Amino acid sequence: MLIIYVYIFYSQYTTASTVLSVGGLRQQFSLKENIEMSLFGAEFIRNINDYLGIYGQPAIDPIFHPYGYLMLASEKGAERLTENSKLQNFLGAKNILLSPAKLKNIFPWLNTEDIELGCLGLEKEGWFDPWTLLCAFKKKAMVLGAQYISGEACGFTYKPNDEDLIDRLDQLVIKTKEGEINTIQFSIAIVAAGAFSGEVAKMAKIGIENDMRQVCLPVEPRKRYVYCFHSPDGPGLNCPLTIDYSGTYFRREGLAGTFICGRSPDESEEPPVQDLNVDYDYFDEKVWPLLANRVPVFEKLKLKSSWAGYYEFNTFDQNGIIGPHPYYKNLIFATGFSGHGIQQAPAVGRAIAEIIVDGQYMTIDLSNLHFERIINRTHMSEINIV
Ligand SMILES: Cc1cc2nc3c(=O)[nH]c(=O)nc-3n(C[C@H](O)[C@H](O)[C@H](O)COP(=O)(O)OP(=O)(O)OC[C@H]3O[C@@H](n4cnc5c(N)ncnc54)[C@H](O)[C@@H]3O)c2cc1C
Repeated sequence: MLIIYVYIFYSQYTTASTVLSVGGLRQQFSLKENIEMSLFGAEFIRNINDYLGIYGQPAIDPIFHPYGYLMLASEKGAERLTENSKLQNFLGAKNILLSPAKLKNIFPWLNTEDIELGCLGLEKEGWFDPWTLLCAFKKKAMVLGAQYISGEACGFTYKPNDEDLIDRLDQLVIKTKEGEINTIQFSIAIVAAGAFSGEVAKMAKIGIENDMRQVCLPVEPRKRYVYCFHSPDGPGLNCPLTIDYSGTYFRREGLAGTFICGRSPDESEEPPVQDLNVDYDYFDEKVWPLLANRVPVFEKLKLKSSWAGYYEFNTFDQNGIIGPHPYYKNLIFATGFSGHGIQQAPAVGRAIAEIIVDGQYMTIDLSNLHFERIINRTHMSEINIV
């Protein structure tokens, strides 16, 4: 079977979530599928040169920082944290539960007053450079024969199918930088347009027609800020990627007292998404007080810089939507990861390849994440969304 992969992308990745992400990798999820995908993500990053290395080219260094995540729970969340940890360890992750006294002993800079329990990753967790991963995927794909075309996907053409009276998707309509309209005929199309996947699905009349296509792909952009601050007296090397039970997270960035942090806003506080401007009041009012509560020395931090990116937010259950659309057999989704997609990219890519080449999952069974669950209203909710 000859497969020619064509990737359509635009805007030089400037607004792509991948390059604006913080590149975190953890197994501290509540859903089996997410834990398994991130376990493969860790294995993939560790052995990236076996997967993406190119003969004669310098070795790839994904700049992986092997530091565990530290998830903190209040009294309310402690039982759940314990259950999650059990499942994670059962599936192959390695983390331990720590009492407030133990937490204080290991991390003296941490305020544990309102903490009931912590879960610390001992291996296969950390953070890496998303840009390196993206470039490595792209180079390897090109060496293997994939073609990259810069252009904006703006519609589909259809081919009626007399057998089952269902339209088939036939061509993708693209607009080039110069404004030229072209079409690309395809056998299978994969919607992996990040935060704008819902828009691309609409181009295939998903969420528009009054038949099996009436349910929309519930993926939309949600702006998330990342703030970079300096705290020379802050935690040193012994600083995990810490996630407070309020959802506020921080991690070291280098070794000179610099940290990055963020927090997803409540539903009622979602900022407008027409640009990627940063709201500094949000830091002052909603992030800094929580940081300073958790790590008192952060009271004196100095904000240095910031950026914003789009989560490809699945409004249904904040989890990946993977696999074929039930109406169009030649349209496959790989989107909606809502803030944890980069670590899952290797597993998702492999899963999509299995669907196309083998007609079934050969490694991790991701059928619970198929589009059908949106139609059937079966939530696959991930508790540990940051
Ligand atoms: C601030 C922030 C922090 C994050 N932190 C983490 C983290 O720590 N760990 C983690 O695992 N994940 C994290 N994520 C999430 C992660 O970045 C995403 O889940 C992942 O990068 C999604 O990859 P993607 O390829 O699906 O989307 P993208 O990287 O957005 O790529 C989609 C591509 O499709 C293109 N496109 C869209 N529409 C069209 C069109 N009509 N025509 C042509 N091309 C189109 C875009 O230009 C883009 O190049 C974070 C995200 C953000 C914003």
